[in-house]
Amino acid sequence: MAVKSKTSTPATAPSKAASVVEAVRRAARQEQFLEVVSAEEARRRFGVHIDGAPLAGETTPLAASLSRVLALDIAAPVDAPPFDRSNVDGFAVRSADTAGAADDAPRRLQLNPEVVACGVSPEIEVKAGTATTVATGGIIPRGADAVVMVEHTELVEDSVPPAINVRRPAASGRFISFAGSDIARGETLLRKGTRIGSREIGMLAACGFDAIDVVRRPRVAVLSTGDELVALGKPLKPGGVYDSNGAIIAAAISEVGGEAVTLGAVPDDEIALESAMRTALASSDMVVLSGGTSKGAGDLSHRVVSRLGKPGIVVHGVALKPGKPLCLAVVDRKPVIVLPGFPTSAIFTFHTFVAPVIRAWAGFGAETARTMTARVPVRIASELGREEFVLVSLVTGSNGLMAFPTGKGSGAVTAFSQADGFLAIEPLATVLDAGTEAEVTMIGEAARAPDLVIVGSHDVALDVVVGALAERGFHARTIAVGSQGGVAAASRAECDIAPVHLVDPATGIYNKHLVSPGLSLVSGWRRMQGFVFRPGDVRFEGRDVAAALKAALADPGVLMVNRNGGSGTRILIDRLLTGAQPAGYANQPRSHNAVGAAIAQYRADWGVAIEPVARMYGLAFLPIAPEEYDFLLLDERRDKPAVQAFLAVLRDEATCERVRALGMEPSEK
Ligand code: AMP
Ligand code: MG
Repeated sequence: MAVKSKTSTPATAPSKAASVVEAVRRAARQEQFLEVVSAEEARRRFGVHIDGAPLAGETTPLAASLSRVLALDIAAPVDAPPFDRSNVDGFAVRSADTAGAADDAPRRLQLNPEVVACGVSPEIEVKAGTATTVATGGIIPRGADAVVMVEHTELVEDSVPPAINVRRPAASGRFISFAGSDIARGETLLRKGTRIGSREIGMLAACGFDAIDVVRRPRVAVLSTGDELVALGKPLKPGGVYDSNGAIIAAAISEVGGEAVTLGAVPDDEIALESAMRTALASSDMVVLSGGTSKGAGDLSHRVVSRLGKPGIVVHGVALKPGKPLCLAVVDRKPVIVLPGFPTSAIFTFHTFVAPVIRAWAGFGAETARTMTARVPVRIASELGREEFVLVSLVTGSNGLMAFPTGKGSGAVTAFSQADGFLAIEPLATVLDAGTEAEVTMIGEAARAPDLVIVGSHDVALDVVVGALAERGFHARTIAVGSQGGVAAASRAECDIAPVHLVDPATGIYNKHLVSPGLSLVSGWRRMQGFVFRPGDVRFEGRDVAAALKAALADPGVLMVNRNGGSGTRILIDRLLTGAQPAGYANQPRSHNAVGAAIAQYRADWGVAIEPVARMYGLAFLPIAPEEYDFLLLDERRDKPAVQAFLAVLRDEATCERVRALGMEPSEK
């Protein structure tokens, strides 16, 4: 999406200048938090106002009760089975009549003139010396106390009335399920607080229940606020972001036993937000709002919540990272929570402060956290005075379990889905040194351990390879830490494969210099790097790379977008610029996509990126040089089936085709 370039220094009208100054003052105001408290203190203050007992029960059809929680103990109103039942096809007999029966000493029994199929009530008593034919599930007739399997009998053809020879003895009770042996009438079938699963539904159905009393699910209203928020399914406007918090919070509410009432996004407007909050409060047991918490917004949400009613805000500001701007309030016994807008912060604080209340109200028991001990492979810096949570991906290295930070910052939406768990850094620590052992709290379902661990530089075509591996049943985990990070992980045996694209500045050759004892190089593909600009930009259009670069350096109005130090592209840029540092050089995003977006959105005019990215953003492309994207392979892991599969997939023609379709050229093998 293109955003029109703003002219550099327009003459600002006095009224506009005044409003800008006012906005800056508001943004800079420091009296934001009432009082920053520890996470524990926040929980205590909030807890004082909240009754943690499950909500009252409501009657629900059995078919709709899956995942609900029983509000009352349930006693069985009937026996199961409801009568003494045959477990096999055979003959109901008196056990005494079969004593001593054997192949060479069969016992002859006269057949009663009745066949007891399922659902048939027998009418004839089994007297001594007789037997009644009975089907599996049939009622045992009066007088019988055992069943002989049909396989252990034979019909005596010439006998009138018909008879059987029994060739095995049947002890009393043989092949009979007695009434109530499964469920006895009056017995407590299920206890209050039980989560209803398919097995519980089966038991309740066996007793004939078509409806049961379950704990009412707490209704939780979900609201978002932000002028920039765009509803899902609508096109993104310039500067807009999708309201992802609304969706993830609603889903998380359902996961922990609540019923989400999604109310959408409201603009950053006090009147609109207050009215939406009042509507939300009236229609729910609890309100969760996200956004409007940063200083830039002048802390809109906090101001609105403070007007809603008593006792009002009990916590505003928690010494937690991410999550400091959290605001906890109670209005007429209903919790009102303002989560920070940043997605990772929002979901962290939701799980820490909101989920336990919903779980308790829904009758879900307290969740016991699963933890694992792992070593951190890299140094993690932490802010003094705040308990800091770091999302991590777990990987088994030669020194045991390692916890790689998946750190994408609190604004990241994907951080949670890619993490196995998180570790906490205590408020007084400023750093967690590389090699430190840490306790990792696991999140979500027990993640399947990956078959293949790929740590290093990420590339869109790598997804093709990972996808092809998945089709062959191998689950690969990719951790994007850049080429240098990949080399380090490979040297510490923390991965199987490290994708790299690093040029040797001395020779200009890619990746070969990274080979060392125990590490070999497998060639991947080449991707063309080039000079990227908007089509129609007359400063560059129609020129070759050298001329375009010359034009860029000559025009002081032209802005470049650079790349981060350590990236292969940056090395190429520095070689091109031969020491020059044009305007925009300091802007150093970490990906090709960011370069494409900056140019497409007029935040910069040129940069260096790979061809498929230029195409994706509708930009013009002048090829400079191919870049080699290869894989460092740990020799000791080469025989692992997943590594073998990786190598096979890489050479597979179908994979190569898909890699080519993305604009890369598979290298010679
Ligand atoms: P705020 O708390 O409103 O200052 O927002 C902080 C950051 O979170 C901003 O980058 C917002 O765009 C982002 N944000 C706020 N609300 C949402 C939301 N509902 N979905 C996704 N991002 C959001
Ligand atoms: Mg906002």
